[in-house]
Amino acid sequence: MGRSFDYVILGGGVAAGYAALEFSKKGVSHGELCIISDEPVAPYERPTLSKAFLLPEAPARLPGFHTCVGANEERLTPKWYKDHGIELILGTRVKSADVRSKTLSTVTGETITYKYLIVATGARALKLEEIGINGSNAENVFYLRDLADATKLVNTMRTCNGGNAIVIGGGYIGMECAASLVINKINVSMVFPDSYCMGRLFTPKIASYYEDVYKSKGVNFIKGTALTSFAFDSEGKVSGANLKDGRYLPVDMVVVGIGACPNTNLFENQLTFENGGVKVNSRLQSSNTSVYAVGDIASFPVKLFGDTRRLEHVDAARKSAKHAVSAIMEPNNTSEFDYLPFFYSRVFSLSWQFYGDNAGEVVHFGDFSGTRFGAYWVNNDRVVGCFLEGGDKEDYEDIAKVIRVKPTVADLGELERRGVEFAAGV
Ligand code: FAD
Ligand code: NDP
Repeated sequence: MGRSFDYVILGGGVAAGYAALEFSKKGVSHGELCIISDEPVAPYERPTLSKAFLLPEAPARLPGFHTCVGANEERLTPKWYKDHGIELILGTRVKSADVRSKTLSTVTGETITYKYLIVATGARALKLEEIGINGSNAENVFYLRDLADATKLVNTMRTCNGGNAIVIGGGYIGMECAASLVINKINVSMVFPDSYCMGRLFTPKIASYYEDVYKSKGVNFIKGTALTSFAFDSEGKVSGANLKDGRYLPVDMVVVGIGACPNTNLFENQLTFENGGVKVNSRLQSSNTSVYAVGDIASFPVKLFGDTRRLEHVDAARKSAKHAVSAIMEPNNTSEFDYLPFFYSRVFSLSWQFYGDNAGEVVHFGDFSGTRFGAYWVNNDRVVGCFLEGGDKEDYEDIAKVIRVKPTVADLGELERRGVEFAAGV
């Protein structure tokens, strides 16, 4: 069984949804485009899964958070794809790809050929077994990558009121899930090897602010140690966690967020790789001219910093997807992808944004005993990164703008004194 499309998007996540919208804006005709996804639902805003989806009251549910509502654009329901003649091949895993013959083979035995392929397969959660710990299959151990994971997590959270959860990992999933567990009235201990949370982005001072907020909500931080093994009850459920420092924690449920791994295996030995992802040029085109890569798997040139990066964040997925479609459909009108790295998170009533690069010397500013503070990073005398908690729309626009400009600063004290006002004045 075989079918042929001009354009195929492999993967049905965030990047796929934004690419589909861009294809329709650029006038793709009925029957020319298909999306193949192993998830059973149309593309949705994945960030919702660790935030509004986990709320005990009025949680977000599909179809409410299909792409592209996260960027205040149209909500692409299954009907939208049908009306636009875009084929959604859902619940279907692609098991092999051959870029020479431009053919994909699915687990259902179908072959699909393309003229242009956009690879948007995202990433998967790193499993405990990959760091030498058994227990991922226990019914009270949770990962959070897709809707099925989130649904399973919610069902258990609802029956775990007053119980004990441990969260393994102090990164994005760890922080956002710990907050959601607390909101669901579950006791939380966070276990991670670093001396402070979000160690790849936060400074110790920023981390200390968030840790204090979490502690005030009852979260117990167990830092500088690691999980070594689980204890199981007679039904195979995890009943306790043994830590490297000798501690034992009784457990009703476990949430694991120890990092992600890009889904690139279909293209190994076929495309050029870099930073663990598919290397692309400033048109998001891979080493094979018919294949584009976007989102979490793409390692792309970041003009602003003169290097290449692979970013596992939603804004990069949305924008790289749109850019790739533009480069395919309007090659002569598409300039180089000029991306400003942007990360954000929201927990409890807190909300921060970060733009640029967290390299060089750090200058903190604002009121760390209040609700509005941040930091600049200065590298080779230029402001290259800015973090801000508690800003308004204008503040965030200002800090994004200042990082694009990368102004030279002679006096770091000025950054500390003026904070966001410095950005507003550039
Ligand atoms: P994905 O959205 O992961 O989509 C990949 C798709 O490809 C999936 O549908 C997958 O099932 C499918 N697929 C993979 N392999 C195959 C195959 N062989 N055959 C068929 N289909 C396949 N970023 C932020 O900036 N802010 C946030 O607040 C934020 N929150 C997040 C919360 C959670 C719970 C998670 C997991 C991530 C979050 N992120 C956030 C990161 C952000 O969601 C990702 O960067 C973004 O989803 C990447 O988009 P993508 O399209 O590349 O991959
Ligand atoms: P992250 O890479 O953000 O964090 C992983 C964390 O696990 C790090 O703190 C890491 O510490 C820690 N870790 C590593 N090994 C161990 C161990 N043996 N025991 C305990 N902790 C360990 O990955 P996440 O799993 O949090 O997130 C998965 C993906 O989802 C990422 O792509 C992320 O970008 C994305 N995401 C993004 C969000 C956002 O942007 N707001 C929200 C939710 C998810 P160390 O740094 O020291 O290695």
